[in-house]
Amino acid sequence: MGRVLWAPEVFNCSAPDAGNMEVLAQYGTPAQQRDWLVPLLAGEIRSAFAMTEPAVASSDATNIQTTIRRDGDDYVIDGRKWYTSGAMNESCQLLIVMGKTDPDNPDRHRQQSMILVPRHAPGVQVLRDMAVFGFDDGPGGHPELVFNSVRVPASNILLGEGRGFEIAQGRLGPGRIHHCMRLIGCAQRALELMCKRATSRVAFGRSLAEQGSVREDIAHSFCEIAQARLLTLQAADKMDREGNKSARDLIAAAKIVVPSMAARVIDRAIQIHGAAGVSQDTFLAEAYTYARFIRIGDGPDQVHLSALGKQQLGLHGASA
Ligand SMILES: Cc1cc2nc3c(=O)[nH]c(=O)nc-3n(C[C@H](O)[C@H](O)[C@H](O)COP(=O)(O)OP(=O)(O)OC[C@H]3O[C@@H](n4cnc5c(N)ncnc54)[C@H](O)[C@@H]3O)c2cc1C
Repeated sequence: MGRVLWAPEVFNCSAPDAGNMEVLAQYGTPAQQRDWLVPLLAGEIRSAFAMTEPAVASSDATNIQTTIRRDGDDYVIDGRKWYTSGAMNESCQLLIVMGKTDPDNPDRHRQQSMILVPRHAPGVQVLRDMAVFGFDDGPGGHPELVFNSVRVPASNILLGEGRGFEIAQGRLGPGRIHHCMRLIGCAQRALELMCKRATSRVAFGRSLAEQGSVREDIAHSFCEIAQARLLTLQAADKMDREGNKSARDLIAAAKIVVPSMAARVIDRAIQIHGAAGVSQDTFLAEAYTYARFIRIGDGPDQVHLSALGKQQLGLHGASA
């Protein structure tokens, strides 16, 4: 499925829906599951996940400014989000929104909550759709949204007030490994295209395949894909055996390694294709943007490196 950028949606396991389904399955009440999980699983509706905000460094989710205020039997939501992937899709009916119910709580990880907001609730306004390297990424898009006194029933809160951080941790682990799996498919397809192009294109009297540097690019790509695939399988295996929490180290390792690997392999394929590589005639340009933005999305590389370094120090450092 990773080989074709839109294929995961055909099989109803695309981002952000797969992660949202897991959240609803793991943390939703029976009523929330009936109203949202069942139609999502049936592929009847799409959903989006609204955490990131333009005004604050959102890789640190404690910075989130959106407020979720209790008012009688309702919650009222005010804030601004962007890069809310999928929210432009005409089938998108649900937004899972992260905001603060208790901004003054001394525990910075208990201030946040997540709440279910119907996409077309009064007060949800699309300001604009955000591009990715100039691609509009339709039909799902990544819009900037304003929540202007959006009112939803109190029963729409997920798991309870102050549990948003916990849900975000639970959600992003599996989502990260899904991106890694898809990117390995992208890199594998890029390698195959590289080989086809190298054998069919002649420059300076020889096929590109006869150039040593081209063969090296192909060989490096093969090695790097194989390494990344094994790492991702190892992470998946640990998730299956020991659960997502225990597999955090390997999930972070895969999230650090795979998007960079895919961007590098696709970049080599682009180079071997010449102008065609950056054109609309191959999938390479769009695949490159995907690999590149995943180095930022679902946690930038540096955040995972820092967390993984800290975890290893805790295990093997002097005071361990
Ligand atoms: C195409 C696309 C789709 C997205 N989809 C969604 C979505 O559906 N829902 C959603 O909520 N968000 C989405 N995002 C947003 C994404 O998750 C955030 O961009 C990401 O978490 C980083 O937040 P930020 O952009 O605010 O960057 P910032 O938090 O401002 O960070 C900027 C940079 O600072 C550096 N940095 C941060 N922390 C550290 C550190 N500890 N050490 C060293 N350097 C550091 C990193 O280089 C980082 O890239 C999407 C983003 C893109 C590009």
